[in-house]
Amino acid sequence: MPADQQLPDAVRIVIIGGGVGGASVAYHLSELGERDVLLVERDELTSGSTFHSAGLVGQLRADPALTRMNMYSVELYRKLQAGEHAVAWTECGGIKLASSSERLQEIRRQISWARTYGLPLGEISVREAAELFPLISTEGVVGAAYLPSDGYIDPSQLCNALANLARAGGVRIAPRTRVVGIDVEDGRIRRVHTDKGEIACEIVVNCGGMFAAEIGRMAGVRIPLIPMSHQYLVTEAFLPERGDPLPTLRDPDLLVYFRQEVNGLVMGGYERDPEAWTATVGSYDAVPADFNGRLLPENWPRFEQIAQNSQIRVPDMADIGVRMIVNGPEAFTPDNEFCLGETEVEGFFVAAGFCAHGIAGAGGIGKIVAEWIVEGQPSLDVWHMDISRFGRDYRSPRRTLVRTLESYQTYYDIAYPGRQRIAGRPLRTSPAYPWHAANGAFFGEKAGWERVDYYETNASRGDGARPPEGWAGRYWSPAIAAEHVATRTMAGLFDETSFAKIEVSGPDAATLLEWVCDNRVIRGVGDVTYTQALNRRGGIEADFTVTRVAAEVFSIVTGTAFGSHDMAWLRKQARRCGARVRIEDVTGRDVCYALWGPRSRKILARLTPANLSNEAFRFMTAQQITVADVPVRALRVTFVGELGWELYASSEFGAALWRDLWSAGVDLGLVAGGYRAIDSMRLEKGYRVWGADITPETTPYEAGLGVCVKLGKPGGFEGRDALVASQERGPERRLCTITLHDPHSVVLGNEPVRIGDRIVGRVTSGGYGYTVDASIAYAYLPVANAEPGTSVCLDLFGDWIDGVVAAEPLFDPAG
Ligand SMILES: Cc1cc2nc3c(=O)[nH]c(=O)nc-3n(C[C@H](O)[C@H](O)[C@H](O)COP(=O)(O)OP(=O)(O)OC[C@H]3O[C@@H](n4cnc5c(N)ncnc54)[C@H](O)[C@@H]3O)c2cc1C
Repeated sequence: MPADQQLPDAVRIVIIGGGVGGASVAYHLSELGERDVLLVERDELTSGSTFHSAGLVGQLRADPALTRMNMYSVELYRKLQAGEHAVAWTECGGIKLASSSERLQEIRRQISWARTYGLPLGEISVREAAELFPLISTEGVVGAAYLPSDGYIDPSQLCNALANLARAGGVRIAPRTRVVGIDVEDGRIRRVHTDKGEIACEIVVNCGGMFAAEIGRMAGVRIPLIPMSHQYLVTEAFLPERGDPLPTLRDPDLLVYFRQEVNGLVMGGYERDPEAWTATVGSYDAVPADFNGRLLPENWPRFEQIAQNSQIRVPDMADIGVRMIVNGPEAFTPDNEFCLGETEVEGFFVAAGFCAHGIAGAGGIGKIVAEWIVEGQPSLDVWHMDISRFGRDYRSPRRTLVRTLESYQTYYDIAYPGRQRIAGRPLRTSPAYPWHAANGAFFGEKAGWERVDYYETNASRGDGARPPEGWAGRYWSPAIAAEHVATRTMAGLFDETSFAKIEVSGPDAATLLEWVCDNRVIRGVGDVTYTQALNRRGGIEADFTVTRVAAEVFSIVTGTAFGSHDMAWLRKQARRCGARVRIEDVTGRDVCYALWGPRSRKILARLTPANLSNEAFRFMTAQQITVADVPVRALRVTFVGELGWELYASSEFGAALWRDLWSAGVDLGLVAGGYRAIDSMRLEKGYRVWGADITPETTPYEAGLGVCVKLGKPGGFEGRDALVASQERGPERRLCTITLHDPHSVVLGNEPVRIGDRIVGRVTSGGYGYTVDASIAYAYLPVANAEPGTSVCLDLFGDWIDGVVAAEPLFDPAG
């Protein structure tokens, strides 16, 4: 849009921000046929973080969905380069070095799971790495991986190319137009105010980069990101003219990356003492209003460690002159993942917080967010990047800052499964937390909650258990085996207070939930239903239990980390249906203790006058009872396949309830247990975990949860039509239970599954089952290969381990 042209009074979609993120969303919206789109940029296109990016495009990430998004980016950049919009895309390949044996294991693990989606990552020898990148010293290098389709690009050209294509597709672009306010009415977007007038709109996409938090605040929405200073240097020219450019090079053990820049090198890294810019523990970011097309002053002292490390790997770095240092701010998030998707304000989307890989991600980000807007959901499971993963604690500037600093510091560290964060703990604790701590609990943290993984004090009871080999044995204790076995044979007491709890009440509560859930939830007061909530494609958007507490009151219990996500989903559905309901997060109101095992009834009976017999207290029902002196809502449910109850009580009773349950069971062999034992038991019993085994990309039929689906219920439910269509086509894959022949080889997730020469699936979750005495893995396999008895191989760190598809559940199939 020429600068002198008037802004429109109204458009359907306003994109805020003309960096690579905004330009890509604009382009992909136009590709999906959206014409009524306006992109506003307060300065010039590319004048935010985009212009000073180093431009490396690496595809491999720890998250499969993000890797697939980056693979799409490369496809797009290739296409742009081949067309009329050259973007200086250089497909030079990329090397990742291992300077430690643990890193080599990480590389091998990545190579193995890259196979599951056709990413051509391969291991190369140290000599081959040196041939590809002759400047390196191979001292200390123990191995390497090479990805021929990695490369680098000119970020400004990329941004402009995407903007030009968007314009050609009908998107209007208004540079030098600053958004100064956003109106939200009745929970949804109404208009934006700019310094050139106001624009009514249905949808706003916040592509504000490091300014995204500031833009979010205009709509009352918290986008937890921090502008972090990130530096790289550009050397003088010293490379001989040669035909092929050097590949990009990363040496994460030395915290550095390189790429060729004309006849010199770009070198940057992730220092251990990072620096936030403008945000402090006591205040939100406050980027100056005129910070466009600008950089921060060089900070040599902070770059020193990176510079020294770079000389270890590329000795020439010690002698070559430095042409410039670029110190640019960039938006980082508390967990190093993007912030994408619709916020709690209807119609207010975000695509920001790219953590120094926004150029690599831009293509995929634009595609996913455009789909989300136009089709109501993205085509991939992007839960790890969904803005709704952040709880209310991230409204705190301090929490956001300390977690972001920690993520930056550990950017290149090996992401061992089970690795724990340290910053900002403890934050959310159960009333029984002091008891757990005093009794040797090893805590893991999830969504800010301190949760017991296991009690080290139980370790001596599990003496016979042998640790799994390799990484699976890293965060392991014989206590896990002991707690598992004691629960199966006697009883276990587990603190599940961190479970997210949502209360839905009001005159339309029943009809809303009946529409949202695939199972029937309009049942009697006291009935408990296990159900999924589906998206329009029939994918599993949430997985929870619903208890009808009163005619117009339902209590939902979902996973610890999924509370904000499930609340957002329910609220969205309620808005769409115009339902008269109140949806409240009541997680902190009640404790939840699970008492499971064959002796659980006997233990509970010591504390309650309630009749606990099968007839009086049926499976999947709830009753209000007293336990010792405490009023409790008891649910006869299980996640481990044992008789037992989940006991919900108001938090002020929590410490007493735990104490009394414990005292009542000690002489009957009760053991206090943690989440690792629960996980081991649920694997044996075939229970699925959302976010791993079941996701928005999988249907209940594929997941073996068809029993929950009530196609015939009056009024239907969200996702029903897609499910019916998928039933008619017949499912192509099914979630299978695999047991490995070597019980000491234990999967960590994402390992490829092979039948013959063909990769047929990828592990969703797994672990060791101490009752069935087997190493267990779940994976989606083609229906033709899903029959029990089918032989398979799983790739663990480059070794193929034999296994077999088993009939499920492995434990207690007769129930
Ligand atoms: C030093 C450095 C090196 C990097 N190297 C790499 C790399 O090698 N590879 C890689 O993939 N990534 C890299 N990155 C990251 C990458 O550059 C960013 O992730 C990406 O450019 C961010 O794009 P964006 O569109 O989100 O933000 P930006 O480019 O910052 O765009 C946001 C835009 O929003 C506009 N805006 C803000 N507020 C308003 C308002 N109120 N009204 C209107 N407009 C507004 C701003 O003016 C700005 O232009 C690097 C970053 C830095 C800092």
